[in-house]
Amino acid sequence: MILNGLGSTKHEELFVLWLTVAPLLRAAGYTLVMPEVGELVTSLDMSGVSLTITWLDDELEPLWTSPAETPAYRRGTAAMQSGVALVEEDFDGGATVAYQEATADSRAFAADCVAALESAREALHEAEALLGDMDAVAGDGDHGRGMVRGIDAACAAASEAMAGGAGAGAVLSAAGDAWADRAGGTSGVLWGAGLRAFGESLGNDQVPGPAEFGAAVTAFSDRITGLGKAEIGDKTMVDALLPFAGTFTRMVSERGNPSLAWTEAARAATSAAEATASLRPLKGRARPLADKSVGTADPGATSLAMIFTVMGPHLTAVHQTAAAVS
Ligand code: ADP
Ligand code: MG
Repeated sequence: MILNGLGSTKHEELFVLWLTVAPLLRAAGYTLVMPEVGELVTSLDMSGVSLTITWLDDELEPLWTSPAETPAYRRGTAAMQSGVALVEEDFDGGATVAYQEATADSRAFAADCVAALESAREALHEAEALLGDMDAVAGDGDHGRGMVRGIDAACAAASEAMAGGAGAGAVLSAAGDAWADRAGGTSGVLWGAGLRAFGESLGNDQVPGPAEFGAAVTAFSDRITGLGKAEIGDKTMVDALLPFAGTFTRMVSERGNPSLAWTEAARAATSAAEATASLRPLKGRARPLADKSVGTADPGATSLAMIFTVMGPHLTAVHQTAAAVS
């Protein structure tokens, strides 16, 4: 038997219920074998319980009563019996990574990409509590923590790649992979994949001009909408991303000035993120608690606008210098 609390039902209440259920089953002639009472499978702040009853046979009984040792479920002393070493895996493994060949131009631009990521890191650390609180209104409250874990890993990977002689594309791809690996959560996967797409589009040869910037922003945006399948109005980061990408590509092709276009696009993203407050979420973890979410802006859209706002001056400063020189 498993008497499982769904999230907001207290242990005391579970035990009160158990004292009603167990005697009824015993009175009906059943033997209760190692029953479980606790929060084993929860769903945000859903109230109530699930009660699972399984009839054991000769095959199932020894399995059910065996020791188990997993992060989510423990019974008995399995780890000591099997001699499993309780150490964290070493993800890096000390291997040296070979980066694609890069020109001196691209390696110089890579330094601006690292500076851009560092400024995002500063902004996200500052906003961690705010983003967490926003996500806690209708989600699981981990957006601030997740973004900080992601950007910390991305910055470390980017610096390491730059020190290893990588160009801008490889630096951003390495940052994206580390972000996706360490952040956890929906937003981590999307940011990681988006950054990798941005890097792949830039490549490791040139300092991007207006056309290359436009293509990279489009690649970032396409990768995120391709993976997440969210549309405008679903109340996700896409509500800030599409206005950013649309404004940037339009302005950069009309005016040929990435710095100006980025500033305008970041403004568009910021007001679009604020405007998500009035929406009901149609995608992601906030959807089941949609009513609670109305009145609070989407955390993913908010963090995206913040990041793009602070990264822009670093990414586009080089272009201005290059334009001034040429
Ligand atoms: P999780 O939802 O897994 O806890 P986070 O809390 O880090 O991850 O991120 C939540 C944000 O992810 C939401 O505010 C929303 O902007 C974004 N999001 C969720 N689902 C999608 C999706 N399908 N496409 C784009 N963005 C999404
Ligand atoms: Mg969350």
